[in-house]
Amino acid sequence: MGRVSKLSRSVSGKVVLVTGAGSGMGEATAYVFSDEGAKVAAVDQNHEPVERVVSAISAAGNTAKAWACDVSDRGAVDHMVESVVAEFGGLDILVNNAGISAALPLESAEYDAAWARVLAVNLTAMTHTIRAALPHLRKSQSPRIINIASTEGLGATAGNSPYTAAKHGVVGLTRSLALELGREGITVNCICPGPIRTGMTEPIPEEMKERYARQRTALRRYGLPEEVAQMTLSFALPAASFLTGVAVPVDGGLTIRRA
Ligand code: NAD
Repeated sequence: MGRVSKLSRSVSGKVVLVTGAGSGMGEATAYVFSDEGAKVAAVDQNHEPVERVVSAISAAGNTAKAWACDVSDRGAVDHMVESVVAEFGGLDILVNNAGISAALPLESAEYDAAWARVLAVNLTAMTHTIRAALPHLRKSQSPRIINIASTEGLGATAGNSPYTAAKHGVVGLTRSLALELGREGITVNCICPGPIRTGMTEPIPEEMKERYARQRTALRRYGLPEEVAQMTLSFALPAASFLTGVAVPVDGGLTIRRA
């Protein structure tokens, strides 16, 4: 009798592009994939944070390179993706993680500008990276697209409408592209993190974080960036070949609560 399992649980040698890799969940994702032997293209809007991440990966004896790129700039994204492919010889996994927050009410004077920027970075940018990556993903044995949405992509919080709208958009984009690209064997999934300790949530005072987590999550705590990154890795495995179009909460049980 031959081997029972035929699908690999290794990303060793795969090329993964992670946006927003200079902080938080993107940084943790870069570490988790590099620890598993993937070649990491670490992308962020500024050089310094991704250079730091790449140095840490290189010091551990793994492979990574940094790219500074504003993912909302389509031309810059095209250029960056071509440069990644020239450096690493292909692209297997795209992790769309870069994002910004903006909590402000509808009648705020800054609403129009916040809406435009949040939609551009948190949603439209994903279409830039996906379109640029597509010709290269098509050449991969196990092409994967993983988008980082939010529990705000499944439910809503008052006074956060640009962010909530963008994250609902990420869920919709994921589902539609899963159908569009499925015939080519390209899987498209998204993760909906709950409250995670990252640069984005750092300004929230500790006591407010603890109260929120105690009241809202089953696990009664904020999550850590690696806890999301490990789920991203699971979605990226060659073995995850029949999983597409899903939006999975990684939220300590936040979305199961009725009130
Ligand atoms: P973070 O602020 O620690 O990291 C975000 C990274 O994205 C930063 O390094 C930032 O420089 C980069 N970035 C922002 N705009 C960019 C642009 N235009 N081009 C390139 N890079 C850009 O925040 P995080 O919490 O790790 O956020 C990662 C993702 O997780 C985001 O999409 C965020 O919306 C989502 N998210 C976060 C939480 C949370 O509680 N922290 C919860 C749900 C979803």
